[in-house]
Amino acid sequence: MSSREPIKALALLSGGLDSSIALSLIKSQGIEVEAVNFHTGFCLTDAHRALGRTANKNGTPYRNEALRAGAHEQIPVRVVDVSKDYLPVVTKPRYGYGQAMNPCVDCRIFMLTRARKIMEEIGAKFVFTGEVLGQRPMTQHLRAMQLIEEQSGLPGLILRPLSARLLPETTPEKMGWVDREKLLALTGRGRRLQMLLAEQLKIGEYPQPAGGCCSLVDPNFARRLRDLYDHRDPESIQPEEYVMLKVGRHIRITAQVKIIVGRNESENRFLEMWRAQRWILTTPDHPGPTTLVDGEPTDEDLAEIARYAARYCDGKHAPEVTVLARRGEESRTLRVVPRGEYDIAEQML
Ligand code: SF4
Repeated sequence: MSSREPIKALALLSGGLDSSIALSLIKSQGIEVEAVNFHTGFCLTDAHRALGRTANKNGTPYRNEALRAGAHEQIPVRVVDVSKDYLPVVTKPRYGYGQAMNPCVDCRIFMLTRARKIMEEIGAKFVFTGEVLGQRPMTQHLRAMQLIEEQSGLPGLILRPLSARLLPETTPEKMGWVDREKLLALTGRGRRLQMLLAEQLKIGEYPQPAGGCCSLVDPNFARRLRDLYDHRDPESIQPEEYVMLKVGRHIRITAQVKIIVGRNESENRFLEMWRAQRWILTTPDHPGPTTLVDGEPTDEDLAEIARYAARYCDGKHAPEVTVLARRGEESRTLRVVPRGEYDIAEQML
């Protein structure tokens, strides 16, 4: 029997394929593992849940995959809501954005700095992640990994079990807490080996590897976010406005005003929730979407917006459509000519 003090480690866990493999590899070395999962407010799954959706088209439930993976491995997982403190990472990233609005280097520094504090709090000796060398262009090459380690105050203390044998030896390996020979030497974007490993390690369920969960890497979301930052002081943006970027069709009307047009029942219901502070337009005589107004429209703007609401309802070919505009207790009835079919493409975000 070993007389070694039990070694504890903290996993940065998304519950995806790679972090699930990392978890299984480290746990199988007799390390006591706790995990943390950060809620940034930009996870696509959270947006689906906010819209009342429970599962995707294939029937896979929208759930917190980190909690599922933790339950599978029987380890404690704490989900930490960092959404408020995380916003400056998105608005002013020191190391810039990736191809969309993803501030990946700053994001990793932010998360690992938070992880370091939790590591110290729970008496863990190191942190590990599911990162794979060369898998993501911004953060998963050696120089970026070293920068992230330094900036998060964890030099030598971040273990990446999937690529460890290709990376400089870390403290947990040097100290013999972890056997480097039992770690992997994976590299690149392919996931075939990870899928085989998942079978061998009996990892069970995991979300589709290429799916990704971060809306900041989605070019459509990024276009809308850029537009928002171009027209608003980022400090004034409310948390729900970030969720709204994932909902409906977005059309910019003026520099101060844009509208969001629901595309289905659940989006319409979600938009209705914000009618106390914002104008909501509907078409009582024709089935159609809910249109939410973001900003303070003039009377002229509101009449113009009513034409968009009419354009997306079943009465779009009628010569005139009645549109009901409401905000809190206030309401107005407008008769308008629907906008034409093809003249809004340029305003569409
Ligand atoms: S993809 Fe999103 S969550 Fe992942 S590192 Fe980049 S910004 Fe952070």
